Amino acid sequence: MTDTLRLYAFNCGWFQCRPGYFVEGDEGDHLRGPVPSYLIDHPGGRAVFDTGMGVRYRRALADALPADKFGLQWFEGMDIATRLKAIDVDPASIDWIVNSHLHIDHCGGNAHLPNATVIVQRRELDFARERAEPGLYEAIDYDTGQPLRPIDGELDLFGDGSVRIVPTYGHTAGHQSMIVRLPKGDVMLAADCCYTERNLDAMVLPKAMADIEQGMRTFERLAAARAGGTRILFGHDGKQWASVREGVAFD
Ligand SMILES: [Zn+2]
Repeated sequence: MTDTLRLYAFNCGWFQCRPGYFVEGDEGDHLRGPVPSYLIDHPGGRAVFDTGMGVRYRRALADALPADKFGLQWFEGMDIATRLKAIDVDPASIDWIVNSHLHIDHCGGNAHLPNATVIVQRRELDFARERAEPGLYEAIDYDTGQPLRPIDGELDLFGDGSVRIVPTYGHTAGHQSMIVRLPKGDVMLAADCCYTERNLDAMVLPKAMADIEQGMRTFERLAAARAGGTRILFGHDGKQWASVREGVAFD
């Protein structure tokens, strides 16, 4: 257990796409973005926000996805359990998994955290079960037998205001983000409600949206939070990720 709240980031996969997948009209070489997971180590317990991709996306380095192809890839050692062990955190010590949403690249590592209860928006769970689709929503990732705690709207995870789960609908029907209060200010783990900083700068939603109106309302809230000093960590932003120190506590 920790005596003070700490936040750590890890990359648990890679996501490749054309720039236009994020911001329509953008051109150029394919972008490579991370598939982030975060550890929130709180005196009252441990939570992991998103768990990356399942091992079925494994590729050998020699067989890596060509740089000009769309897709996901995962290399040995990128699973959340290995990432946690690297900083001496036992995967069995994680109390909570908070999934931003149930797309395959956000909950594929849930099974690696055997004692965690999964917190997800009820509407996301319903949506995933209705829309099961290979490569998008696959029950193997989230119907793991772990306890599920569906929620409706906001949740103050530890009851002290330091770790808040907030709905950020749009990308999917029940997407949620997390706001972690650190000494230097709030950090928002946005996940896929906003793929990259450039999306927010341009206020342009990507095409992959379940609900455009909700997505735009979410963007407006993000823009206001950022203007108020909140640091936002975006969903698949390779440019931003270059400045993130994996496995080192944020200050
Ligand atoms: Zn997604």
